[in-house]
Amino acid sequence: MQSRSRPTAEVLGELELLREEDPEVHGKRLFGLVYPTGDAELEALVHDAYERFLFANALNPLRFPALARIEKEVIAMAGDLVHRAPTELHGGTMTSGGTESILMSMLVSRERARARGIEHPQILAPLSAHPSYAKAAHYFDMDYVAVPLDSGYRADVAAAQGLVTENTCVIVASAYTYPHGVMDPVVELAALAAENGIGCHVDACIGGFVLPFMEMLGHPVPPWDFRVEGVTEISMDVHKYGYVPKGASVILHRDDDWIWHQTFFYDKWGAGLYATPAIAGARSGAPTVAAWAVMQHLGLDGYKALVADLCATVARVRTGIGAIGGLQIVGEPIGPLLALRSEEVDLYAVADVMDEWGWHLNRNTDPYGLHLMISPAHRDVVDELLTDLADAMSHHGPSKGKPARYA
Ligand SMILES: *Cc1c(COP(=O)(O)O)cnc(C)c1O
Repeated sequence: MQSRSRPTAEVLGELELLREEDPEVHGKRLFGLVYPTGDAELEALVHDAYERFLFANALNPLRFPALARIEKEVIAMAGDLVHRAPTELHGGTMTSGGTESILMSMLVSRERARARGIEHPQILAPLSAHPSYAKAAHYFDMDYVAVPLDSGYRADVAAAQGLVTENTCVIVASAYTYPHGVMDPVVELAALAAENGIGCHVDACIGGFVLPFMEMLGHPVPPWDFRVEGVTEISMDVHKYGYVPKGASVILHRDDDWIWHQTFFYDKWGAGLYATPAIAGARSGAPTVAAWAVMQHLGLDGYKALVADLCATVARVRTGIGAIGGLQIVGEPIGPLLALRSEEVDLYAVADVMDEWGWHLNRNTDPYGLHLMISPAHRDVVDELLTDLADAMSHHGPSKGKPARYA
């Protein structure tokens, strides 16, 4: 830090310059990472909600009872969406994101396994599962066993069956998967878990605020939520298709009591009883309040309208991709996430060209290709995207060898 104070205008001016280096977060050319709606009123609401609770600290619900109540309501609204039977504690907590939700769920599975005398609990997760399951295994000293995928990039149930041991403490299924946007066979994996007396965690971090509305709109959605017997936990991110800024996710347990396995209690210091339901200690109330505000403002009708519009955009993108020679969609994606492959063209070379033209497409490693996470705001750029993609497919040099990376 420099010693002189800097005027606020000077500081903000520098931030403005720095921001210009990063992609535009209203995101018409950015896919994944942000989930823009293009709805200015919704965005203004987020700003206002943030401002009102920016300095509130969710650490102590006794000091911030309104904030605590708001948080409970978000959890209850999320639970309703995935058909969790209402209970007093709403069976869940809010966290900073999908990773923390998944960490908490895996911790609960570990603690339940340890209570049954299992010393080395194993997480059984499909190869397509989000890296946070492996992170949980690393943090919580659990074993991680990967289930291979079938030809449609879904978890191979027969293989999963063969991998269950007496140490398996949870089976993971994604609704839907991040790499390919396909639904894992949740019913079969949950049944396998139930047969073995263990939990089944459904990762609906991206699907949680898409699939319920697709179903309400009449799209065919295979069963995946708490209506499936054997599904014991669901993670869902409000900060993705819930359309709020980062810092808001929900972890839900079928059983209220399981919350206590993720709650840490301590009273041996000089400041009284300290308890936290997740990893963070002090945390801003703003993300929680933004989640509540957006859910209240949109309501089921608002989300349905956004998802209907999103599905129409996805359909246009899919039709356009079908019309570009040599480009195929991987598997059978259910929603707004498409993985692309090509037998004829090096898609990383295509991505290089798209990068140059200011698009930010992601690269997949398996199958080698591209990854497109479509948001409502992309409605405005579909034609341009498809024209540029077709152009890049036929006019590109060799790949620059830029790797597929998130860090
Ligand atoms: C985003 C995502 C996660 C992790 O969420 P973060 O909010 O990035 O921590 C987990 N699973 C799936 C399927 C996701 O898309």
